[in-house]
Amino acid sequence: MKNILIVEDSKVVSSAIKNLIETELNYHCVICESKKESAQTLLKYKGKFDVALLDLGLPDAPNGEIVDFITKFNIPTIILTGSTLSEDETKFRNKNIVDYVIKDGSYSFVYAVSVIRRIINNAKIKVLIVDDSPVFIEKIEKLILRYKLISYTANNSEEALKVLKSHPDIKLVLTDYYMPIMNGLELTRKIRKKYTKDELGIIVLSDNDDKNASTKVLKYGANDFLDKKFSNDEFFARISANLEILELFEDANNKANRDFLTGMYNRRYLFQTGVQKYDKANKNNKNFAIVIIDIDKFKNINDTHGHDIGDIAIKEVAIILNKHFNDYDNLIARLGGEEFCILISKKKVDEVKEILEEVRKDFELNIIKVKNLEIKYTVSIGCSFNFGESMDEMIQSADNSLYVAKDNGRNQVRYRD
Ligand code: GH3
Ligand code: MG
Ligand code: MG
Repeated sequence: MKNILIVEDSKVVSSAIKNLIETELNYHCVICESKKESAQTLLKYKGKFDVALLDLGLPDAPNGEIVDFITKFNIPTIILTGSTLSEDETKFRNKNIVDYVIKDGSYSFVYAVSVIRRIINNAKIKVLIVDDSPVFIEKIEKLILRYKLISYTANNSEEALKVLKSHPDIKLVLTDYYMPIMNGLELTRKIRKKYTKDELGIIVLSDNDDKNASTKVLKYGANDFLDKKFSNDEFFARISANLEILELFEDANNKANRDFLTGMYNRRYLFQTGVQKYDKANKNNKNFAIVIIDIDKFKNINDTHGHDIGDIAIKEVAIILNKHFNDYDNLIARLGGEEFCILISKKKVDEVKEILEEVRKDFELNIIKVKNLEIKYTVSIGCSFNFGESMDEMIQSADNSLYVAKDNGRNQVRYRD
């Protein structure tokens, strides 16, 4: 559960914000009405707040003294103030804060909540900064860390491509336009050969007022363009807007590609994406295995405990399989019902056999505790290393092995070499 600190002396404002945060985000809010109370609360919570929302005029800290006090604890801070003085805004924007929001009606509260959501989500998002200027890398990295994103850096495009290869879960690239050897435009084109615009965002930055450059990078696949003379406010707004769009794409893709109950990839995605993995491994004669896993006597669980408990038992499969196969070389999918399929790339036959035996044992020893019940089940596993004529045929041969496992008493792994 995330903890949000609200420091605000007006009860009307604090309760409105608290309400909004709890209903929209389901995070826990702690309200303090003064600097003194905040100090006690921080002590009690050992400084463990995910975001702080601060008012500038407090009874014992009338001039925004609370800001330095809270940011010292390295808590991402949003100022929510009634002050419309531009010198106040300038002064506080230069401090280590995430955003400065002026209270002018309920929309400002809604905006503040969206910033909180952004900061919390950022903690999982990896960003790659590419620039030949170490000074600029340092400047951007500071901001990236301030917004709680995870940062990677590269001093040139070649290095950037290497970092992307070893961290395929990077979500956003911020690249300089003018760099020696391979500039930002060429880097964008290279990246777009592998990643689509909705998989990986690219923002190109340049300190040159070259309209041509900005148009060109957008044409060649960048998601956005940013003038290097940005203000922190603009930087944060652009990054947020781009990440939000990427998240909307991800949401839509998840709805189409994932199974609602388990969050695993669905059958449609398996056949669509799996074929590429199959073809690549088959063409290059690389290690590849297809595994089918089916829960044993699952009908008994439904019949004895009901469908809801059955669903919980199915969800447990995702937990165990993710533990063993959670990396980019594998694809785990729910084929339907209580049947699952895994495509394993780049693992030798013996390694696969060892892992599958561990998986079988894990299920055998696992106890699901729910509603004072202890649910146990085993699985049967069929695995094929034989490419055959097509992926469908390879899946069929794994399925045949699964039936051999079932026929021989279940709770075992069978292979087709
Ligand atoms: P075997 O060891 O031969 O695989 O036996 P089994 O009982 O596991 O297999 P069977 O195919 O006879 O039964 C599977 C059951 O799974 C039947 C179906 O009602 C149930 N089932 C399929 N999808 C779901 C689901 O999403 N939730 C729940 N709770 N049950 C499901
Ligand atoms: Mg440069
Ligand atoms: Mg079954």
